[in-house]
Amino acid sequence: MGSAVSSTRRGEDVEMVKSVELYERATRCMPGGVSSPVRAYKPYPFFTGRGKGSRIYDVDGNEYIDYCLAYGPLILGHAPEEVKEAIKEQLEHGWLFGTPHEGEIKLAEKIIALYPSIEMVRFVNSGSEATMAGIRLARGFSGRDKIIKIEGGFHGAHDGVLVKAGSGATTFGIPDSRGIPSELVKNTLQVPFNDATVLSDILEANAGEVAAVIIEPVMGNVGPIPPEDNYLEEVRRLTREHDVLLIFDEVITGFRLAPGGAQEYYGVIPDMTILGKIAGGGFPIGVFGASRAIMELVAPVGEVYQAGTFSGNPISITAGIKTIEILERESAIPRINALGDRMRAALTDIIHDSGAGIEAYVSGVGSMFKIFFSPSGNPVRNYSDALTCDKNRYMRLFHKMLSSGVFLPPSQFETNFISLAHSEEDIETTIEAYKESIPEI
Ligand SMILES: *Cc1c(COP(=O)(O)O)cnc(C)c1O
Repeated sequence: MGSAVSSTRRGEDVEMVKSVELYERATRCMPGGVSSPVRAYKPYPFFTGRGKGSRIYDVDGNEYIDYCLAYGPLILGHAPEEVKEAIKEQLEHGWLFGTPHEGEIKLAEKIIALYPSIEMVRFVNSGSEATMAGIRLARGFSGRDKIIKIEGGFHGAHDGVLVKAGSGATTFGIPDSRGIPSELVKNTLQVPFNDATVLSDILEANAGEVAAVIIEPVMGNVGPIPPEDNYLEEVRRLTREHDVLLIFDEVITGFRLAPGGAQEYYGVIPDMTILGKIAGGGFPIGVFGASRAIMELVAPVGEVYQAGTFSGNPISITAGIKTIEILERESAIPRINALGDRMRAALTDIIHDSGAGIEAYVSGVGSMFKIFFSPSGNPVRNYSDALTCDKNRYMRLFHKMLSSGVFLPPSQFETNFISLAHSEEDIETTIEAYKESIPEI
């Protein structure tokens, strides 16, 4: 057991006096007391004092090994020194110009060198913004209105992609939120992940009307669900056959599975790529990129409009460049992917050996992992499989792990991430915590 963790190991009676106070104040001035819904959980979320390396510390001084990692961006862990120094230097020169600067070119050139699908990019401020503009660009390029997304696929919180997953693939989309005109999402069609036959049928039924298929190559927002053998190749073949643009939303997988993202890892090249999260080194960013022919439709060269005050801001750009530099220099990705393999193997063993009759399935790829409490421990291949999992059991695990000093994402449907700051000892400590927690849930 790592000394850092054992020094703060507590039972269920973990002290969270200050978090409770802050939560009460927060709920009076912000819906649910949070700035993004997934951060809220019962009875109350801990409030964070600071983060360093693989650890996040709450305001009551409790320490956790962090596998949430801000939902993906922190691939180097919290507050890496080298990134901090690079940002400090940039701060000396100013942090927002509203004019072009060299950093944008450097990051653009870096991305273009790593992603063969990308010849030009546009920087924006979040993944949501990037998918919104990317979809607009696909529509502008093709002159078609419909898009196809994957059931349960998450592309940010804007109207056109917030469509209730699980509704029939052949029916028009139903908004997933109040406040979205149904008119607006009637052009969003859905298909299940890992099923090329349904995709083929929908493309056939809507021939000549579909602008793009947008897909996370590894589903990341219902827990990690990797593509089965040949699925992405089939998606690529079918979209090409129907002259439909293929958009890979690599906001999670970009710079994580491989320097060149899932497209490098699986060897399938889309027409357009969306990046975010890691690309900003922990600061807000979104990127959409494609061939020159497609990207030159974007304003001011072309007629697809897109703009943003904070886009390409020097802080996000500097942090992104430094983060990618470190990832490459340290051969970081093979290292964290190996830690992911170790974690998945250990969790699979724990579930089989628990003797507690726990039905669960361990999923993931690279540095992403998750225990799904699926009926009979059946594999989880898509969104509707994910929905059959026992969310309450997951939350019992979440709380057990939290009181053992391990912070997992507070939802059955979010991915656990490993960072370069996680040591082998951190991983073994975490495996021990799982070993103790799982039989008790
Ligand atoms: C996080 C995420 C987004 C949205 O990015 P934001 O920066 O939160 O707006 C889009 N797509 C995927 C796959 C994501 O994981």
